[in-house]
Amino acid sequence: MNRHFPMSKTSTDDADDAPASPPTTLSATASTRRNVPRPGFCTARRCATRVTPPPPTCPPEMSHLSLRGGGASAPTLDVEDVVEDARGRVHSIETFTAVDGYGIRCVVFAQGCEKRCAFCCNVDSQSRDADAGTSTTARAIFSVLKRNLRYYARSGGGVTVSGGECMLQPSFVEAIARGAKKLGLTTCVDTAAAGDEDAWRRVLPEIDLALVCVKSVDPVKYRRITGAKTNEEYRTMRAFLRALDAHGVETWLRFVLMTDRSERFVEYATNGEDDLRALADLSKAHACVRGVELLPYHRFGEYKFERMGFAYKLAGMNTPSAAEIDEATAFLTSLGVDVLC
Ligand code: SF4
Repeated sequence: MNRHFPMSKTSTDDADDAPASPPTTLSATASTRRNVPRPGFCTARRCATRVTPPPPTCPPEMSHLSLRGGGASAPTLDVEDVVEDARGRVHSIETFTAVDGYGIRCVVFAQGCEKRCAFCCNVDSQSRDADAGTSTTARAIFSVLKRNLRYYARSGGGVTVSGGECMLQPSFVEAIARGAKKLGLTTCVDTAAAGDEDAWRRVLPEIDLALVCVKSVDPVKYRRITGAKTNEEYRTMRAFLRALDAHGVETWLRFVLMTDRSERFVEYATNGEDDLRALADLSKAHACVRGVELLPYHRFGEYKFERMGFAYKLAGMNTPSAAEIDEATAFLTSLGVDVLC
C-alpha cells in the first residue's frame, strides 16, 4: 500500500504543466470505476499512507490561473456560470490521481486541521494560521481542473476534497462539490470528521462518497492517537457517521493499522482483537458503510515533523508486516466486513 507514494504532479500553480494528452494513469480507468474495488491496488491516501508534497511556492492568490487558457483540447467552461464562489485555504492540489475515490480524480488538499495525530503524514497541512497554505476560491480551483474534465468524467471520477481537514471549511467544500455535480463529476470528501450538524446538512447532499478515517473506536486510544484532550472529537466522528447514514452517503472507513506491540508503542497498537471487533461493529452499525480500508502505518511523514521542528512520537515504531496485514484483513473479513484494500 505504501507503494502509492504520490506519483502524480501536485501543485497549486501547475496550470502550465497540466497534461494536454491523456494521463498515463488512464489505463487504470476500467479497474477504478465506481464501486469496483481494485484487487491489490490501494485507494488509501492521506492520514497514514500518502504524503502530500511540500507546499508549492505560489502566489497567495490563485485567480491568475483563471486567466490561463486550457489549451486547444480543453473544454470551454465559464466557471463563473457553474461554480458558486467561496473562499478557502488549500495546502495543494493533485490534478490526476487514481486514489481517493472513484475513477480519475482531482484532489484538493485543504489547509488546516484541529487534530494532531501521531502518525500524521502531512503535518504541514495542520496549521490554521492566517498565513498557512494558500487562500483561494472554488472558482479558481475549477480553473485549474477544467482542462482535465473529460478524463475525470469518462472514468467516473471527479473531485475529492481532502486535507488537512476539509470539513473545517464547509462552505468551500459545498461550493466545490456543487460545481462538480453540475459538471457531472463525482464528489468525495476525505475526512476524519469535523464540524457540526448545520455544516453537514449543507455539504452532505452534494457528496457521493465519504472516506472517513476513524483513528480508533476506543475513545481513550482515539485521544492518544489524535492528541485530543477530551472525547469531543471522538463523539464528532461518531455523529458524523450517523449524519452520513441519514444522508445516504456511501462511506469507506479508513483505519490505520499499527501492530508494534513493543513497550513504547503498545498503547498505540490498533490490531488487537478488541480494536478490530469494535471497528467491525462500527462498520456494521451504519448502512452507509460499504467497507473498511486498512492503512498500514508507515513513516513517510516523519521527515516533515523533523523539518518543522516537531517531535515525532512514533519514531522507531515498526511498520506492519505483510503477515500482520493479512491477519487483520482475514479477521475483519471473518466478522463480515468488506475489506476494500
Ligand atoms: S486528521 Fe489531521 S492531524 Fe490527523 S492525520 Fe489527518 S491531517 Fe493529520
